[in-house]
Amino acid sequence: MRRYYIKTYGCQMNVADSEKLQNVVRGMGYEEAAEAEQADLILINTCVVRQNAEDRAAWYITSAKGLKKENPNLKIGVCGCIVTEPGRDLKKQFPHVDFFIPPNSPGKLAEFLKPSPPGRGGTVERQRVRAEGSTFVNIAHGCDNYCSYCVVPYVRGRETSRPMDEVLAEIKGLMEKGAGDITLLGQNVNSYKYGLANLLKAIGPLVPGTRDQVPVIRFMTSHPKDMTDEIIETVAELPCVAKEFHLPLQSGDNEILKKMNRGYTVEYFKDRIEKIRSLMPDARITTDLMVGFPGETAEQFENSLDLVKTIAFKAVNMFAYSPRPQTAAAKMPDQLPDEVKQARLQKLIGAVRKMLI
Ligand code: SAH
Ligand code: SF4
Repeated sequence: MRRYYIKTYGCQMNVADSEKLQNVVRGMGYEEAAEAEQADLILINTCVVRQNAEDRAAWYITSAKGLKKENPNLKIGVCGCIVTEPGRDLKKQFPHVDFFIPPNSPGKLAEFLKPSPPGRGGTVERQRVRAEGSTFVNIAHGCDNYCSYCVVPYVRGRETSRPMDEVLAEIKGLMEKGAGDITLLGQNVNSYKYGLANLLKAIGPLVPGTRDQVPVIRFMTSHPKDMTDEIIETVAELPCVAKEFHLPLQSGDNEILKKMNRGYTVEYFKDRIEKIRSLMPDARITTDLMVGFPGETAEQFENSLDLVKTIAFKAVNMFAYSPRPQTAAAKMPDQLPDEVKQARLQKLIGAVRKMLI
């Protein structure tokens, strides 16, 4: 029996991609290995959104080389965002890797693993790729927002929305199989072409209300600029939708938000929070914050610190800005030294910790 091992870095989008890759390899008769050392196929699903995520993935890819010495039949595949990252020569950097698969391309994996055609060594029966359900349901791929710091539009491409019928059919299938919670995924689910509110309203009747544990629908990530009243009202109205909003703020300073190309102001962000809380006082609102954007002054950083204290988020993901290839922010003047970014990050983490305890 051939065995596979998948190592996943990064966001929910990558977790969802890994589930699809797993369906492909299982459909081809592979079984899951408990550890990489026991596998005949290792897939490394990479993330490049920040330098440290990229470094960790690159380190793992390099270290997998040693396993090939022990098992010469081992195949190593590198998947995800590193594959489409601009300016890389992966074949040169990782000559021991057998194949590279861009994000959201499980079909390409099937091609790579395709059994050799009959006549070149025994009869091979073609396995059907099993389209097994997942609790993550992609509703959109890619991103058109071009936030100035972000590499996602370059590595995952332009935004495309899956047709509503297709999404609903997938969810219906999952519900029939007794799925639990479902998370609708996209880089910016609020700009779903056919309307996130419409989609949620159409999902409502598909969710059975009679079981002991009613499945809950979640969605992420929401871009604050596209968080309309209609979406907020729909979440408030539908019992099957979790009262949860992940709304990445990034900065509490208007000038920095502008340089980030986020498309909203602090005032607008606060207004969205008020709207949510007016309808759902106990809503779980979480956010992402970035410190040390090029040119961020001590005062602008303090604005983020102050705002995070006022809004009282339920959880905050915090990052130090890291320059990414091709992005506009990487070319901006006044890149801050690592020490400054790290000191601000630690200060922010300390403040958020105090707030959450
Ligand atoms: N589409 C989502 C998620 C993007 S990536 C959104 O728009 O929010 C997840 C988080 O990583 C971002 O919210 C941001 O806070 C952080 N991030 C993205 N690029 C970064 C960079 N170059 N340096 C540091 N953090 C970054
Ligand atoms: Fe990146 Fe901005 Fe798109 Fe999110 S919305 S993926 S931060 S470009």
